[in-house]
Amino acid sequence: MTTDTHPEPILPPATIGILGGGQLGRMLGFAARAMGYRIVVLDPDPDCPAAAVADRVVVGDYDDAEAALDLADEADVVTYELEHVGLDVVRAALERAPVRPGLEPLRVTQDRLAERRFVERAGIAVAPWRAVATTEALAAAAADLGTPLRVKALTGGYDGRGQVRVAGEADIDAAIGRVGRPEGGPLLAERELDFEAELSVIVARGLDGKPAILPPARNLHDAGILVESVTPADLPAGALREATAIALNLAAAMDLVGTLTVELFLLRDGSLVVNELAPRVHNSGHWSIEGAATSQFEQHVRAICGLPLGATNARGPTAIVNLLGTGPEREARLLGVDEALAVPGTHLHLYDKRRVFERRKMGHVTALGATPLEALDRARAARSSLRWAEGP
Ligand code: ADP
Ligand code: MG
Repeated sequence: MTTDTHPEPILPPATIGILGGGQLGRMLGFAARAMGYRIVVLDPDPDCPAAAVADRVVVGDYDDAEAALDLADEADVVTYELEHVGLDVVRAALERAPVRPGLEPLRVTQDRLAERRFVERAGIAVAPWRAVATTEALAAAAADLGTPLRVKALTGGYDGRGQVRVAGEADIDAAIGRVGRPEGGPLLAERELDFEAELSVIVARGLDGKPAILPPARNLHDAGILVESVTPADLPAGALREATAIALNLAAAMDLVGTLTVELFLLRDGSLVVNELAPRVHNSGHWSIEGAATSQFEQHVRAICGLPLGATNARGPTAIVNLLGTGPEREARLLGVDEALAVPGTHLHLYDKRRVFERRKMGHVTALGATPLEALDRARAARSSLRWAEGP
């Protein structure tokens, strides 16, 4: 069981409030709509990706408690699609509706130090780290831990933003200034690990505490941003079992209702290290829309509405390749869709972002195949036909 205090299922046509209206909110909205729920979204941008599936967009920042009250007034349950929403926003929403996952998963995961401590308390390994507030402390950490290091802002980082690499001594002096952080506050410095592979595990946990786990995905990042995810992960079965056990352990330790994503590194000695947690649906789970019996989005809706979770088995090998923006900021016009969809087994997802710029997450291509490699080859082939128009 969980300690959640609203035991009754929240049935359609109830309204789900989503804090954040990006692509994750959009895809959550599609799943919720299919089940007959209504949607209200909080986002600073009235034309955000989730606007297309929202009955109403409450326009406000992710730290606007007034706006959160407005959203929660209309909602039967509130959830979030990013961990950078203010704790006060969640506290405000909690006055009017259950928030799932709750305050505690958000508190733990929006601060990298709190996250490291939480994972270690659960007896699970993370990269060797220090909290550093000054260049002297960073130099001491480099001497202690060795280089290369990653220096990460505690809050607000995503897609590789908010972190810098310290390759060696020469990078130490400039590093703290380059991260960008609240004046004088601490940063996380951690050892850069030479891993064999990155993987992620997405676990949903129902109101009754019963979990459902998607098969782990093997992920490839480029300069901190996810570019490809494939499942089944072509990694030793023992490592996948252990990664799954870690995700279950952490979701239970958080007493979470909803979805937890655990990003891990598989080291060359076969051991696992947790890199990052997200108390939400995740880019590395997008494959599950076409590739799993129940998508991460439907599963999240079921979990936060107190409904039984669905089967998590994969329908077959599935891969996604992200469609990132390129070039200067301009109106988004995609070319090559017809060639891309001519590749067998592929599906296109566009997030309807009006503007494109370098490395912005604009959409993804999913492909199913007979093997993980075939799925990945197909997704890559389709992706390579797609490009952003140069001019307006
Ligand atoms: P974000 O919030 O931007 O996803 P992460 O901490 O997950 O931040 O870092 C993004 C990516 O950068 C990771 O997926 C991984 O590829 C790389 N990375 C981050 N920390 C380390 C590390 N300690 N060692 C090796 N690679 C790392
Ligand atoms: Mg990450």
